[in-house]
Amino acid sequence: MDQVLELKNIHYAYHTLEGETSALTDISFSLKEGEFISIVGPSGCGKSTLLSLISGLLEPEKGLIKINGKYLRESTTNVGYMLQHDELFEWRTIYNNVLLGLEIQHMLTARTKEKAHELLDTYGLKKFENSRPSELSGGMRQRAALVRTLVLEPDLLLLDEPFSALDYQTRLNVGDDIGQILRREKKSAILVTHDLSEAISLADRVIILTKRPATIKQTIPLIFDLEEDTPLNRRNAPEFKTYFNLIWKELNTDE
Ligand code: ADP
Repeated sequence: MDQVLELKNIHYAYHTLEGETSALTDISFSLKEGEFISIVGPSGCGKSTLLSLISGLLEPEKGLIKINGKYLRESTTNVGYMLQHDELFEWRTIYNNVLLGLEIQHMLTARTKEKAHELLDTYGLKKFENSRPSELSGGMRQRAALVRTLVLEPDLLLLDEPFSALDYQTRLNVGDDIGQILRREKKSAILVTHDLSEAISLADRVIILTKRPATIKQTIPLIFDLEEDTPLNRRNAPEFKTYFNLIWKELNTDE
């Protein structure tokens, strides 16, 4: 498998009038094509900062980030970013919301428009193409936000607590649903979450960060002996509890 992302010895600190806040120290890891990583860590430890660095919104003070073998600044790789709130615009229909990223990136063509229709159809939103976001449930809105990201055909997807604004029941369904979509599309993805169950049900590997300034405390590969490896089946598998306890313990012990 090819390496999509490589981070080596990343350091980052915020500089404000009040002084310096060191957010990340010496972070190194890589992500292979089609791999799904979850990142967990205490609140405020630097998880979102890490995604901002990978997306190029922030620049590391030290260290290197390569995407598809190229330095981030020279890379033309498409990185998709999905946030906690779906950021759908009420004044646009669902279809036009999905086209927004394509418009901004000057990628609006007959082919990409067709792709938008196809994805909306595949993910059960065809009937809602002409609806406004407020007419959809929280789960459907999150699917629409995902379609808007996927239509750009990102090589790497960054998901920052994308389900945390949803109520518990919806969150379980949407998390599992979106996890399956990403596996089907064979997307390389990094999910930042404070929900351990979500992290374990979706990923190939969990990276545990220490409290701020975050460094990697442990990386735990998730291996499930399942005929059909879906998020829901994982939640019911005996390994799930073992991983949960292991990660919980790691998060709650100070070295
Ligand atoms: P997490 O996503 O793990 O909750 P963040 O990456 O958002 O954590 O933040 C890490 C630390 O950096 C926090 O202590 C936060 O207060 C600080 N921080 C985040 N953004 C800024 C900023 N723009 N300016 C100064 N400090 C910031």
